[in-house]
Amino acid sequence: MQIAAGAVVVFDYVLTDSDDHPIDSGSGPSGMAYIHGQGQIVPGLEKALDGKSVGDRVQAVLSPEEGYGPEEEQDEVRVPRADLPPDLELEAGAELVGTDDEGESDTFWVVEVEGDEVVLTRTHPLAGVTLKFDVTVTKVRAATEEELEHGHAHEGEDHHH
Ligand code: ZN
Repeated sequence: MQIAAGAVVVFDYVLTDSDDHPIDSGSGPSGMAYIHGQGQIVPGLEKALDGKSVGDRVQAVLSPEEGYGPEEEQDEVRVPRADLPPDLELEAGAELVGTDDEGESDTFWVVEVEGDEVVLTRTHPLAGVTLKFDVTVTKVRAATEEELEHGHAHEGEDHHH
């Protein structure tokens, strides 16, 4: 079947920046799995995968706008380490999702830990970066009702509840 909205897609990938420096990669069980058409992967790659099928290779160079967005003004915030869950891994680039008083969730990334304070930013670590994807589609199937309800694919190592 071809990749279309509502399909679960699994792919092997190699991601580099425009100078071919490796950023991330995964294959087989650690490949990427997502539900197509829901904005679960960067917009440029989702568009490039539309209509493809198993075995197809997609090589795409994405501007920051088609990737994780443009680099923004410094928007760092400092929070006391004690205000964050104690089991949280605080390496640079780690992602954390907070919820404000109105129940809106907001995603932050760790910039660094300074003494008993943690510096966080709302800007994705790959904002402003041109992304080169080399992707091979390994699986395409219809999403189950459960997956559509959960809003994620039940595939591979990344799936946990
Ligand atoms: Zn689930």
